[in-house]
Amino acid sequence: MEYKLDFITYSNALKKNRLLGLKCCQCGAITCPPKMVCQECTDTDLEVVQLSGNGEIKTFTTNYVAPLGREVEAPYTIVMVELEEGPWIAGNLIDIDPAKVGMELIGRKVKLGHKIFPGDQYSAGDAARPLFSFYDEA
Ligand SMILES: [Zn+2]
Repeated sequence: MEYKLDFITYSNALKKNRLLGLKCCQCGAITCPPKMVCQECTDTDLEVVQLSGNGEIKTFTTNYVAPLGREVEAPYTIVMVELEEGPWIAGNLIDIDPAKVGMELIGRKVKLGHKIFPGDQYSAGDAARPLFSFYDEA
């Protein structure tokens, strides 16, 4: 079985603020982050599509205890975002004070950016990860 969208390609696109996903040729659902199969029907007939990167916060958590090697990043808020195209993806939320976030975050509109996280002892090197900022503010 081949990867239609491998992690390197996904990560390199993210570094240009382009969010890629997979559209299922059977049921039409969008899968993101990329997987081997459609996350709705498990079919393998998938095509790479570019997603808007816009979505709505569904839930969140604030992390005060960062993983080893990332202590300076804490505290930070991670949001689960339902993208306009359907799938939910996680990313760090910026433009807020993590110590002051509350339930008012739920439902806020956000747009995608990215941050390059340096490699550590558990990864193969630098990788881009989703970063979200508010979209519904002037
Ligand atoms: Zn499907």
